[in-house]
Amino acid sequence: MKFGGTSVEDAAAIDRSCGIVGERICRKPFVVVSALGGATNGLLEAGTLAARGEIAKAMTIADRLEYRHAELLPSTGEHFVRLRELLKALGAIGEFSPRTQDLIASYGEALSSLIFVDRIKRLGYNAVHIDARQCLVTDDRFGKAVPIMDVTSSRLEQAARSHLDSGQVAVMGGYIGATLGGTTTTLGRGGSDYSAAIVGAALNAEEIQIWTDVDGMMTSDPRVVNSVWKVKEISFDEASELAYFGAKVLHPLTVLPAVEKNIPVYILNSRKPKGTGTRITREARPCRNPIKSIACKRGITVVTVSSSRMLMAHGFLRALFEVFDRHHTSVDMVATSEVSVSLTLDNVSSLDVIVSDLRQLGDVEVSSSKALICLVGNNLKYTPGIARRAFGGLPDINILMVSQGASNINFSFLIDEKDANSAIQKLHADFFNEVDPEVFEPAG
Ligand code: ADP
Ligand code: ASP
Ligand code: MG
Repeated sequence: MKFGGTSVEDAAAIDRSCGIVGERICRKPFVVVSALGGATNGLLEAGTLAARGEIAKAMTIADRLEYRHAELLPSTGEHFVRLRELLKALGAIGEFSPRTQDLIASYGEALSSLIFVDRIKRLGYNAVHIDARQCLVTDDRFGKAVPIMDVTSSRLEQAARSHLDSGQVAVMGGYIGATLGGTTTTLGRGGSDYSAAIVGAALNAEEIQIWTDVDGMMTSDPRVVNSVWKVKEISFDEASELAYFGAKVLHPLTVLPAVEKNIPVYILNSRKPKGTGTRITREARPCRNPIKSIACKRGITVVTVSSSRMLMAHGFLRALFEVFDRHHTSVDMVATSEVSVSLTLDNVSSLDVIVSDLRQLGDVEVSSSKALICLVGNNLKYTPGIARRAFGGLPDINILMVSQGASNINFSFLIDEKDANSAIQKLHADFFNEVDPEVFEPAG
């Protein structure tokens, strides 16, 4: 059972989440918690300010975070002595490396998990704290660490199995882990979902429950469209495609461990624990609507390389993709013509070096502030009329790139970011004007 930031944002939310766990005690729950809502952002902001020399501002954030945590569990106050030392050291060094970012961010989950154990014990349940940095072992790609599953599985098994069998609730912080050498790492923003799936797979859980602030996977982001529907059931493939293309409700890697062990994943609302949520399983049930949900990834950059050397030549694309490989940057969408290639990126941390390497191959153009809109549904590749229906409803929006047919469940296209909300609202109104009651349910 994973509880996200809003499900542990304050005493009331934590008690509500503890109550949900308590009602399922006979199923031997293993709980994974996120940092208190907003804490990770606060910690990273404090680190950034400190490294910029703005120590006073960084300390103000640390004070506020200490107050919030210590109010819930006074002993967490001790940890802020070390956090302040770290912030001061950042000020002296003037640099906030990915490794230190992970260390600073780890305070969020390290502390929220201690708070959760304390609360659930006070409610009368037996509980044990599992230290993620002792169990979730990863490589050293800071900020996006990859779990080493065999070591992680045996450590989790050893740390938790006997406690679970004796009726104790195991509670671990999500998002964080450590290398074999013990250096703190994180799985990437939103990574607590992934932690929960890793634990579920490691311990062969019956199911993985992601408790959050919405009723389930919706037909679009409810912050963008207010008339969304809940999707009752969706396949692993569809859910991971949506997560990858911006449906923040699920971290994109969450379904991987679940697929391997075929463990169903549920997305549930911790404010409405009686709800049935969204069930994610191997097979999607047949659906009369061609589209299940619309996702959107913003802040996309397009890089276009044009070169007459590409004309009738082989090896050009290899050379081009090698540049992205060399700089560990993944590409989301590609379009090619006779003499040019356009690619989209969401990570621009190495853009300068990438562009300079690409200039060896041809003329390079860069354009930012784009949005990828992604329609996900079953069998889209073989359903006539999807493109006509999508674009027909957007006569005034300029379509910059299109991807269709690469996968059978994804139809996506690129537009200016400023057009994104209006495009999603129009698409939603058209594709979900009528819905299959077997698959969709009113939200709320
Ligand atoms: P948590 O802190 O519980 O992990 P997140 O903020 O990471 O929660 O994810 C939940 C949010 O994801 C929702 O509040 C919603 O705004 C957003 N979201 C985006 N796309 C979708 C979607 N298709 N279905 C449901 N929620 C979505
Ligand atoms: N607290 C982390 C974040 O804000 C991880 C998570 O919430 O899943 O990114
Ligand atoms: Mg999340």
